[in-house]
Amino acid sequence: MTELLIGSHVSMKGKDMLLGSAQEAASFGENVFMVYTGAPQNTRRKPIEELNIEAGKAFMADHQQRAVVVHAPYVVNLGNTTKPQNYGFAVEFLTAEVKRAAAIGATQIVLHPGAHVGAGADVAIAQIAKGLDEILGAAKEPVQIALETMAGKGTEVGRSFEELAAIMDATAANDRLSVCFDTCHTSDAGYDIAGDFDGVLREFDQVIGLDKLKVIHLNDSKNPQGSHKDRHTNIGLGTLGFDVLNNVAHHPELTTVPKIMETPLIGPDRKHGVNPHGYEVAMLKAQKFNPDLETDVLADEPVDAFLSRVK
Ligand code: FE
Ligand code: FE
Ligand code: ZN
Repeated sequence: MTELLIGSHVSMKGKDMLLGSAQEAASFGENVFMVYTGAPQNTRRKPIEELNIEAGKAFMADHQQRAVVVHAPYVVNLGNTTKPQNYGFAVEFLTAEVKRAAAIGATQIVLHPGAHVGAGADVAIAQIAKGLDEILGAAKEPVQIALETMAGKGTEVGRSFEELAAIMDATAANDRLSVCFDTCHTSDAGYDIAGDFDGVLREFDQVIGLDKLKVIHLNDSKNPQGSHKDRHTNIGLGTLGFDVLNNVAHHPELTTVPKIMETPLIGPDRKHGVNPHGYEVAMLKAQKFNPDLETDVLADEPVDAFLSRVK
């Protein structure tokens, strides 16, 4: 049986940094995980020497953890043609992010391609491609930038496979680029993930190439297909549903691709919620859904007892 590569976004903070991330992932039964190298909403970053990399890598090896994926902060925007300083900053930041990712042993940096902020997708695509060439042209590290499929909210670029292909075609550093396929975003963008995932995968293969798919963001969506909203929800509790997401997780053509959940805490709000990832991992490993996910997580139910009630 092939090993399911399943994990979630975990924190990287304090003194423990990478070690803490790996420990958090292990506590949820995860063999892959994703980190922001600092806070996702800002670009302050510690020097590489303070990321506690040796201890983190040793823990990962001891616990059969297969991959750490880096997500670039979502405030960097290579696509902004109206404020040149934003573009310059994004290039500078991402050049350093490639070095950080390589140092922690990540081979993929997930990047939101950018937003055109009113200038139109075409000009943004040209500038994003130019930026990627600047960043990757200079980089020697064996790291790919994985352009994420976006929901198409606001002026986001990357809302279709064609837009991602256009960016990749316009770069010289094409072999250094890959794609992160987000199930919530692609559904919100209009693809029929719930009804015909295999058909969407064929389309992806024709437009981009399945060999470029290197990360999956496994998220349910709060909103219907084509809503362009980008609101994630827990596995099985959204418009995609458990069977669809379980099929993606165990898809025979995607066995080597890490599946990373970015599903929200369960509870009154983001600050006071309970982390559900251990339960979601357990359901996906068992390939069975527990419709009482929310109440059981809130009751702090032991994962074993929780699993005994999957349907
Ligand atoms: Fe993302
Ligand atoms: Fe995502
Ligand atoms: Zn999202």
